[in-house]
Amino acid sequence: MKIFNTLSRQKEEFVPLEPGKVKMYVCGPTVYNFIHIGNARPMIVFDTVRRYFEYKGYEVNFVSNFTDVDDKIIKKAIEEGVDADTISKRYIAECKKDMEMLNVKPATTHPLATEEICGMLDMIQTLIDKGNAYVAEDGTVYFSTASFKEYGKLSHKNLDDLQSGFRELKVTGEEGKRDPSDFVLWKPKKEGEPYWESDWCQGRPGWHIECSVMSKKYLGEQIDIHAGGEDLIFPHHENEIAQSEAANGKTFARYWMHNGFLNIDNKKMSKSLGNFFTVREISEKYDLQVLRFFMLSAHYRSPLNFSADLMEASKNGLERILNAVERLKELEAKAGAGSAPAEAESAGKAQVKELVEKYEAAMDDDFNTADAVSAIFELVKLANSTANEESSKEYVSYLKETIEKLCDVMGIITEKKAEILDSEIEAMIEARQQARKEKNFALADEIRGKLSDMGILLEDTREGVKWKRA
Ligand SMILES: [Zn+2]
Repeated sequence: MKIFNTLSRQKEEFVPLEPGKVKMYVCGPTVYNFIHIGNARPMIVFDTVRRYFEYKGYEVNFVSNFTDVDDKIIKKAIEEGVDADTISKRYIAECKKDMEMLNVKPATTHPLATEEICGMLDMIQTLIDKGNAYVAEDGTVYFSTASFKEYGKLSHKNLDDLQSGFRELKVTGEEGKRDPSDFVLWKPKKEGEPYWESDWCQGRPGWHIECSVMSKKYLGEQIDIHAGGEDLIFPHHENEIAQSEAANGKTFARYWMHNGFLNIDNKKMSKSLGNFFTVREISEKYDLQVLRFFMLSAHYRSPLNFSADLMEASKNGLERILNAVERLKELEAKAGAGSAPAEAESAGKAQVKELVEKYEAAMDDDFNTADAVSAIFELVKLANSTANEESSKEYVSYLKETIEKLCDVMGIITEKKAEILDSEIEAMIEARQQARKEKNFALADEIRGKLSDMGILLEDTREGVKWKRA
């Protein structure tokens, strides 16, 4: 398996630290709003990477954080007159709903920055003790980029160029910096902000330190893959390398993977251009599996252009696959020994094997999902042209199971009726509770009936409503 490593700017053979295991960290979103479709791209891409490793028999330990303390969260909290915690909790829950609809598997661990402050204080102290960090007069702790001689190795930037570039930018409040390219590890609180006690000042962590600490805690000092959007290469991932490698004295991640940008109608997505879409908005128009399928129609490192036409094309493509699987299921239910010539079916099976090899070759070549999807389409074509009423059950099942297995790596649910989401069930239970409160018992019973038709059983207990799938 080959992976393009941003560090070497080359495709490299993947060799895990431990045979059969993959330790993988993906930078998660800052939770101050609904996630937008640009946030969804790394979620979908790296979930597919994980699923392919699992398909190959690896055991994947997948960690992805939520940044739940940040200027944007605090700003939103002030606007709404609530505390920062309320904002981050709300949007973590919303993000998880979107992930579920996108069929992104939950991470092995989803750590929260605010629950890992102790580890951050420890790592910052280590960096100070080792001479890689210093405390300014106001209590801000900075990482000294000059102390880490490999600084710039990921983004392929030269420290001297960086410093002269930064020299133009005088940032108020950062007068204590020794070098313009130094970055914040810990900063003093401002009025009304959440803060934690530390030896340097009451304050909060900088953004970069959280990933270094959470990656170490949940995956160890060395990991196989660190991933995120290409906008994170500099400064975020460059700074993570500096912190982790200076503190631990070891190579941090062996492979750095970055997905390309998502444009909208060939323009950069921005609120000011009015071409900004949240995943939730897209879900009102399309099944989010269409968005997922669209994102995988290009190679993850290529820029991807989002447009209504391309989404329609993805919708049609996805339907073609789902219809083929549905047809195979119907044939399978009716099929027996079959009257088709045995030679024709063994020739068909040989073609299936070739297409599976084609699919795996594409995925082994730096996760080329675009070519992998074409192999699925070829399989669908083969199924449509060779499976019929005369086919043996064995042949039909073989085709169906192969297509399903390959689609599962792409995160495409081939069951036509996707299972109802937990979040939808909970919303209906909530509506039923509301109806009961309003003494609209007819409506409450109607909702209960609907849930029961979907195989959801409710139980009213003293602690509230409990539910389970029948
Ligand atoms: Zn990160």
